[in-house]
Amino acid sequence: MKTIYLDHAATTATDPEVLEAMLPYFHEHYGNPSSIYSISRISKNTIENAREIVANALGANSKEIVFTSSGSESDNFAIKGVALAKQQQGNHIITSSIEHHAVLYTCKFLEKNGFNVTYLPVDNNGIIKLDELEKAITPQTILITIMHANNEIGTIQPISQIGEIARKHGITFHTDAVQTFGHIPVNVDDLNIDMLRISGHKFYGPKGVGALYIRKGIKITPLIHGGDQERRRRASTENVPGIIGLGKAVEIAGKVMENEATRQTKLRNEFIRTILDNIDDARLNGHSSLRLPNNVNISFEGIEGESILLNLDMEGIAASTGSACSSSNLEPSHVLLSIGLSHEFAHGSVRFSMGKHTTKDDLDYVVEVLPGIVKKLRAMSPLYKK
Ligand SMILES: *Cc1c(COP(=O)(O)O)cnc(C)c1O
Repeated sequence: MKTIYLDHAATTATDPEVLEAMLPYFHEHYGNPSSIYSISRISKNTIENAREIVANALGANSKEIVFTSSGSESDNFAIKGVALAKQQQGNHIITSSIEHHAVLYTCKFLEKNGFNVTYLPVDNNGIIKLDELEKAITPQTILITIMHANNEIGTIQPISQIGEIARKHGITFHTDAVQTFGHIPVNVDDLNIDMLRISGHKFYGPKGVGALYIRKGIKITPLIHGGDQERRRRASTENVPGIIGLGKAVEIAGKVMENEATRQTKLRNEFIRTILDNIDDARLNGHSSLRLPNNVNISFEGIEGESILLNLDMEGIAASTGSACSSSNLEPSHVLLSIGLSHEFAHGSVRFSMGKHTTKDDLDYVVEVLPGIVKKLRAMSPLYKK
C-alpha cells in the first residue's frame, strides 16, 4: 500500500540532492574544519559557503549565523543565552501561550531560576494581541520570544509589528521560524527580527542540524563551552555533513518556495472546504488565511484524534494530532486549549500537513475515506449523541 504522508510539520524526508551533497563529507572530505592542512580547508570552506547561503536567504550577514545541533538547541540557546547575558539589566521575558515546548519549557526553567515570564494569551485564531504585548512590557523586560507560525494550527503571527514594538522599547526580539523558513519568505530586516531559529529537517534537510541568526550587536552568553568554533558562540567540532545538507536544503527551498506556497495554499483551501462540506460537527482550527500554506487542523466533535489517526494509518495515511511531543500523553494540546476549544473538540483534532510531493490525488483519497472513519467512530462514541 502506498503511504500518503501528511505530517511534514513533524519532519520531512531528506531531499536526494541534499543527501548527495552530504555524502562526500562523511568519508572523503572528513577533515576537522579547525585544522590547517588541505583536507580540512575543504570542510572549512564548504561550511562557510553553507553559512553564506543561509545568511543570504534570511537577508543577513554570514557572521550572524551560528550552526547548532537542532531547532530545540537554538531555542534554548537564544532564550537562555540572552537571559544570562542581560540578567543585570532585567529579568522579565515575554512569550506566548502557544509556543513550541522547546520555548515554553525553556521559559519554565528560567522561571525556576529567578526570571519572570509573561505568557501572552491568543485570540480564537491563535494570534496575539499587540496592545496586550505593549501592556506586558516593563522596564525589566529583556526578551520577547514569539513564534513566526504555529506548528499545530499554522497561524502566522504579525511578526513585523511585534518586532517594531520590541525595537521601540529596546528589547531583543527572537522568533521561532522553524515552520516558516523554507516555506514562506523570511527576511530579518523586513520582519524586524533580532534572533531567529531554523531547523534543517523541517524543509527537506537532514535531522540534527539547525541554525540561530543573531543580529550584530546582540549580547548572548554561550551555552556550550569548549573550543573556539562558531566565533566562540558554540563549541564542538562542526557537524560538517549536516551543515552542508542544511545549506543545500536552503538553496533548493529558495528555488521552489514561491510556486509551492501557491500550489499548497490552493490544495489546502480545497481540502478544508471538502472536509467541512462532507462531515458535520467539524471545525477548522487556526486562522483561515493567515496560516501556513501546508497546514490543515480540524477538530471532529465527540471522538478521539488518536482513534482517527489509527484508522487513517490502516488506509496508508500518516497524519498527526498536532504536536509530536504530546502524542504520548493524554492532555489535550496547550495550543488548542489556548484558542478556546473545549476539551471535547480539542481531543478530536487531526493535523494534516502537506509537502512538495503531496498531490491532489493524495488529498482526494483522504477525503474519500475520512467521512466513513468519523462516522464509524462516532457510532461507537458515548460522547457523540447526535
Ligand atoms: C519541530 C519544531 C521545533 C523543534 O525542532 P527540532 O529541530 O526537532 O529540535 C521547534 N519549534 C517548532 C515550531 C517546530 O515545529
